[in-house]
Amino acid sequence: MDDIFLGSYYNLRDELDKACEKFTSMHISQLECKKGCDSCCESLNIFPIEFYALQEELVGKNLPKFKWSQKFGKSCRFLKNGECQIYNSRPIICRTQGLPLLYENKTGTGYELSVCKLNFKGVKVDTFTMDNALFMPPMNSKLFLLNQAFVSKFTHKKIDHFKRFKLNTLLK
Ligand code: SF4
Repeated sequence: MDDIFLGSYYNLRDELDKACEKFTSMHISQLECKKGCDSCCESLNIFPIEFYALQEELVGKNLPKFKWSQKFGKSCRFLKNGECQIYNSRPIICRTQGLPLLYENKTGTGYELSVCKLNFKGVKVDTFTMDNALFMPPMNSKLFLLNQAFVSKFTHKKIDHFKRFKLNTLLK
């Protein structure tokens, strides 16, 4: 893959990690996330650029190369015995799991919250604001635009810009 795309993707991932660190510190006393808790590792979606970045990172690490499959398993193909086998290279969406996340609602008139019920048992939704929850649209927009440029250049528009793939549909 073009180094410029890879570099931009890794920069975006680093930016997200910094934001996640901030909200992890803020909510550390409530986070139950740990090895073996894999309930969010089922059918998460990733963009083609993330898939290709993963393939680039996995080369030389004795992990198999993956390709898309029509076969649907229940869990992500990188999950083994309750642990992520590619934790340091995991896609963008995986890095945010467990934290309170804010999105714009479909009508653009307000916000929707996504929150792990294992971590935030009994916490009222209206206690979350832009100050204590990660606002995802800027990050998602950057990823979308980067993927759009990647797809246009490398697939000659054969893949739709909105196309994403589920992590449980990968085949070794
Ligand atoms: S890549 Fe890792 S963190 Fe992401 S869904 Fe798969 S096993 Fe879970």
